[in-house]
Amino acid sequence: MSKNYRSELVGAFGDPIDENPTGVMEEAAFAAKGLDYRYITINVKKGDLKAAMDGIRAMNFRGINLTIPHKVEVLKYLDELSKEAEIIGAVNMVVNKDGKLWGDNTDGKGYLISLKNANETPKGKNIMILGAGGAARAISVECALAGAKKITIANIEKKQGEELVGLLTERTGVEAKFIMWDKPVQVPTDTNILSNATSVGLFPDIDQKPDIDYKTIQSDMVVTDVIFNDPNSLFLQEAQKRGAKTINGLGMLVNQGELNFTLWTGVDAPIEVMVETLSKEFGLE
Ligand code: NDP
Repeated sequence: MSKNYRSELVGAFGDPIDENPTGVMEEAAFAAKGLDYRYITINVKKGDLKAAMDGIRAMNFRGINLTIPHKVEVLKYLDELSKEAEIIGAVNMVVNKDGKLWGDNTDGKGYLISLKNANETPKGKNIMILGAGGAARAISVECALAGAKKITIANIEKKQGEELVGLLTERTGVEAKFIMWDKPVQVPTDTNILSNATSVGLFPDIDQKPDIDYKTIQSDMVVTDVIFNDPNSLFLQEAQKRGAKTINGLGMLVNQGELNFTLWTGVDAPIEVMVETLSKEFGLE
């Protein structure tokens, strides 16, 4: 029988990207499932994305992750999009389907799985989201499509916040509202789920937390964070002090990695291996 020395290739394009730990998690998962796949972490600068995406086709990569600053620009170089990625207007993963590049956004889907794993659902809930960047867009669109009752967006830039509210209203039909974030934000009393989707608190700035009035967090609220390093962010610690149930960003990161793994390989992902690998990578065990 002839031998096969060729690995299937996936990876990530971004800038900066050196400290992105996704490859360690995905490679551990490939090894656990006995798959001859390699995840290559590649620094692609703004302006070089077209050449890099041509490379995906030329080198028959099975797929790729996109991170800062490519999640929106990559849409130009794709053949097809998932419905969700089309509404969100951003793609974080691509599958090469026999030469046709298909884009999806698994950030918000990973968030929904985190809620589900904690026995929570966005359906029928009032959700407040801090931030209006990529993560906020993905989370808010997925929550709206999953049947949220009302979504409130608080953002320090009015234009971005209002744009997201307009998108939610027009494309998903959910009731959506914008709050200008120019002083400590009050969490409305009817909020069921409060989600930090800003970058505040990400390592190395782990001593920072979003500027909200923490007294307005109530014990019956579910409070979630996109920050995965440190997963026990100051934001979540403040919510715990008020008796709220909290869900960290590490689960969301693993969940989207799990979805990407399966979309690329067609094989169920070894979730425990992925959680363990990332936790070890962040020095959590
Ligand atoms: P973006 O840069 O697109 O968005 C960042 C958002 O944070 C913007 O709305 C920005 O406001 C807001 N912001 C920044 N600084 C402050 C501040 N001091 N006070 C209030 N708001 C602020 O980034 P992403 O949305 O792509 O990522 C956000 C975070 O989510 C990152 O830390 C990222 O690592 C994390 N993430 C986690 C994932 C996971 O799986 N756990 C997946 C994806 C992202 P403005 O509109 O003014 O710029």
